Amino acid sequence: MPKQSNQLTLLDASNLPGGCKPPLFGLDAEALAARMVDLGEPAFRGRQIAEAMYSQWLKELHEITTLPKPLRRRLADQGWQIGRPGISRAFQSADGTERYLIEFEGSGPKNETTEAVWMPEGDGGEAGDGSDDHSKNWRRATVCVSSQIGCAVNCQFCLTAKLGLQRNLNAGEIAGQVVAVLERHAVRVGRDRVNLVFMGMGEPFLNYDNFMAAVRLLVREVGLSPLRMTVSTSGIVPGIERFAQEPPEVRPKLAISLNAPNDAIRAEVMPINRKWPIAAVVDAVRKVSLRPRERITFEYVLLGGVTDQPGHARELARLVRSTGLAAKVNLIAWNPGPGIAYTTPSVADVEAFRALMAGEGIPVYLRQPRGRDIFAACGQLKRTVESSTAAQPSSS
Ligand code: SAH
Ligand code: SF4
Repeated sequence: MPKQSNQLTLLDASNLPGGCKPPLFGLDAEALAARMVDLGEPAFRGRQIAEAMYSQWLKELHEITTLPKPLRRRLADQGWQIGRPGISRAFQSADGTERYLIEFEGSGPKNETTEAVWMPEGDGGEAGDGSDDHSKNWRRATVCVSSQIGCAVNCQFCLTAKLGLQRNLNAGEIAGQVVAVLERHAVRVGRDRVNLVFMGMGEPFLNYDNFMAAVRLLVREVGLSPLRMTVSTSGIVPGIERFAQEPPEVRPKLAISLNAPNDAIRAEVMPINRKWPIAAVVDAVRKVSLRPRERITFEYVLLGGVTDQPGHARELARLVRSTGLAAKVNLIAWNPGPGIAYTTPSVADVEAFRALMAGEGIPVYLRQPRGRDIFAACGQLKRTVESSTAAQPSSS
């Protein structure tokens, strides 16, 4: 398969304020080389800029000391900029989770933000003492990023749905969230155990090209492993079919937001099910050839009284078994949000559901809610700025 470049994902320069060029962040080494050649420079300058942005995480052209000074000056004079997204506000949860508002430099209107989340696990990371120390007090962590601002899918239980779709993020805006969060926590790529989930705002498979361009950047330029990445979709069949064609070296793992044990309930809580019912989604998922030991994840939000009863568990177990897929189920107790009329299931019902599934022989995990107090948990991302514990914004 030919290597796809990220050139397509640039914003149209004509939308940008006078003299400013679209950000360089988001272009891969090949596209950067082409830019340099256009400017009459040798192609290897592109690789140097890629290295500076994606490995050294430099944010300003003048910091790129591998480039000759006159070139740095010329690029700046012509309005070129790295323009990496940065953290404009951070909210800290008592459980160590941090939620960030991410701002886009040089792309998109002022004050427009999306959200990313950092979830540390391990030792003192959960202390939640509000301290400002971002040093390594975690052993493992998960970074969650957004693929769109808002979402068009309209799942009834999800707060992001209330925003509607504001716009797609481009590749640099998606990958930039990851780099900004990695930098804040001084993550050593290739050494620290950090997982990346595309489970923030938006439906990645309705922004497919930009989402996959971001993945390619993160794998090829930043150096992250696709085996430590998971993309979650509400079941956009054409997107899953395209995903199945991706080469394994840049394909994240796949999670499907199933959320109901049958089409009737699923259509009620996820109207998208009317377009792509469960069988169509499962057929598409079957086309993905799994790597050794890889499994498909079915996510299942437990809605009190609606999807959390023993009968639902038995039906879900039957459904998962009938797919014949190497699969596991992640249960998520519903996280509340203002204006949404579901209830959080009781601890006893959640445990009974989990035990029933396990008893049926289905690999099942309970995803602990993280950062509910700062609206950072699944389905709570809505650019909420009210929070009891606003932390210091990072210097980025
Ligand atoms: N749009 C994609 C990815 C983002 S949502 C998708 O829907 O898969 C990530 C996960 O959060 C999904 O599995 C979704 O079902 C779940 N979710 C949404 N709202 C939730 C809520 N209020 N409580 C718990 N999980 C929720
Ligand atoms: Fe969109 Fe996912 Fe929320 Fe559904 S659950 S509205 S697809 S973000």
